[in-house]
Amino acid sequence: MKKGLLIIISGPSGVGKGTVRNYFMNDESLKLEYSISMTTRLPRQGEKDGVDYIFTTKEKFEEAVQKGELLEWAEFVGNYYGTPISQVEKLRNEGKNVLLEIEVQGATQVTEKCPDALTIFIIPPSMEELEKRIRGRRSEPEEIVQQRLAKADKEMKLVNNYKYIVCNDDPKLAADLISSIIKRHMEE
Ligand code: 5GP
Repeated sequence: MKKGLLIIISGPSGVGKGTVRNYFMNDESLKLEYSISMTTRLPRQGEKDGVDYIFTTKEKFEEAVQKGELLEWAEFVGNYYGTPISQVEKLRNEGKNVLLEIEVQGATQVTEKCPDALTIFIIPPSMEELEKRIRGRRSEPEEIVQQRLAKADKEMKLVNNYKYIVCNDDPKLAADLISSIIKRHMEE
């Protein structure tokens, strides 16, 4: 059986990665499995443990790092985020295409280990629009919003590390584009 693809999607906080993903995730022809990350950040309203993230403590996260249980991990605006290694290889060996939605430092760690990963960076139509989207979420204090915006500026400078850049002006169009990129790579 052909090994599944490792697909990395990055993009600044608030760009709408989750919304775009929801449009293509259920397309069975893409044979996608979403890798659920571990994080020490608190759940946002509506987020479920084991579905959106595995929510954990700093101690447990550090223990997972020590034991080598994470494919990559990074600190982002005061919290840890990481990809549990166990499922990724198993699913790929079953022919599934595994999708990681991770920030830029983690993406660099993964591409060093797996240079053939398919990397996609989602950009906003403008930085003003990005700020509007982050503020529209209304879930975080101003200090955190500022940190996320500063981080977004830094992340946008790294777009050229990615194989594909997709603009999320319209989430359905962005999703269609990503689907077609994945399909093309499945045929290679
Ligand atoms: P948020 O707090 O908005 O859910 O996520 C913050 C950032 O962390 C986003 O850019 C998201 O893609 C990234 N992220 C989520 N899970 C992981 C992970 O497992 N590893 C890394 N490196 N970044 C992650």
